[in-house]
Amino acid sequence: MKIGFIGLGNMGLPMAENLGKSGHDVTGYDIAQVPTQNIRNTDAILTCVSGADAVITMLPNGAILRDVASQIIPLMQPGAIFIDCSTVDVESARQVAEQAEAAGLLPLDAPVSGGTGGAQAGTLTFMIGGLPEAFEKARELFDIMGQKAVHCGPSGNGQAAKICNNMILGITMIGTCEAFALADKLGLDRQAMFDVVSTSSGQSWSMNTYCPAPGVGPKSPGDNNYIPGFAADLMLKDLRLSQQAAEAVDADTPLGQAATTLYETFVEHEDGKGRDFSAMLPRFENRKRS
Ligand code: NAD
Repeated sequence: MKIGFIGLGNMGLPMAENLGKSGHDVTGYDIAQVPTQNIRNTDAILTCVSGADAVITMLPNGAILRDVASQIIPLMQPGAIFIDCSTVDVESARQVAEQAEAAGLLPLDAPVSGGTGGAQAGTLTFMIGGLPEAFEKARELFDIMGQKAVHCGPSGNGQAAKICNNMILGITMIGTCEAFALADKLGLDRQAMFDVVSTSSGQSWSMNTYCPAPGVGPKSPGDNNYIPGFAADLMLKDLRLSQQAAEAVDADTPLGQAATTLYETFVEHEDGKGRDFSAMLPRFENRKRS
């Protein structure tokens, strides 16, 4: 396929390179200068998208996506697939999809899970909203960039799945860190704590796969001085999106709200900015009840 790829950052660049390596004809565009290896690069958005069978965007937020979408939709050829892989609010995803459909395009919102490691290895999970025929047309691209692609329903449902998943992740990471800090104070060995919880009803991805305690469980950012991994700033972004969505549909999400407030404090008023989201553990370790 002839593919335009917009947003060659930490995630977008390796995703685009994987498509290039697999033999697709990929042209990348970014407002920053980004050196590339297996794809062509252009500083003109028109060159990136015109005549493309598929355009993929991987951008920081909904406002930027809406701006880029309004530029590229009129330039794309009818029948082309427009896949947005950024994490954005459900409203922006639905608005962009409506605009794209009106122009005869096949839009998909396809946010990802798996982080920069998954983007490099081509093992991302895609959560996809949009028409089934658009999903079928794009499936071979998802198979190159990822290991799993789940069609979640109409436009916006990919983003809905993503923010619900990450709301659970934020909540379970906080719970896991709280429990380790409590266990420390109760005199419980961290390895024993891991051995019990990871095989008992307290288990979760946060404990079993991404254990925040250094030297315990599989290798994780906790073993690397909490260098991200998945930055606390990005977790805060996703939690805020979950609360924006909850507001919009009047859903009661008290733990999602509490997690948002806690990550907000950690990132904006403490030392969480630029650290992995599992650095909540040293935060709790150093605190008292009050
Ligand atoms: P990033 O900041 O590294 O990359 C974003 C890129 O978009 C940058 O290179 C920037 O120059 C470019 N850009 C910004 N405005 C642009 C415009 N108008 N036109 C063209 N390019 C523009 O961010 P990232 O880590 O690659 O994340 C991208 C998206 O993926 C975000 O929505 C993020 O929430 C989501 N995500 C990130 C991770 C992760 O671990 N990094 C995991 C899952 C999802």
